[in-house]
Amino acid sequence: MFMVSINQDKCVGCGSCVDACPAKILGMEGDKAEVTGDAADCMGCETCVEICPSEAFTVMEL
Ligand code: SF4
Ligand code: SF4
Repeated sequence: MFMVSINQDKCVGCGSCVDACPAKILGMEGDKAEVTGDAADCMGCETCVEICPSEAFTVMEL
């Protein structure tokens, strides 16, 4: 399984990751992105890593 984490200090709130995530587990909490869905559904596709303009994502395989 995969674990996604978001560096809140780096997130600039653009929202791009929310629509891009095929697992639909990302959402906005105020002006920051959060894992709002079931983190266990992360597929490890790294679409979020690629689309984020501020390199806020880390995806690790557990
Ligand atoms: S790695 Fe893929 S499935 Fe996991 S949070 Fe990022 S975009 Fe979503
Ligand atoms: S793509 Fe990156 S900067 Fe934009 S909302 Fe998501 S985590 Fe924040």
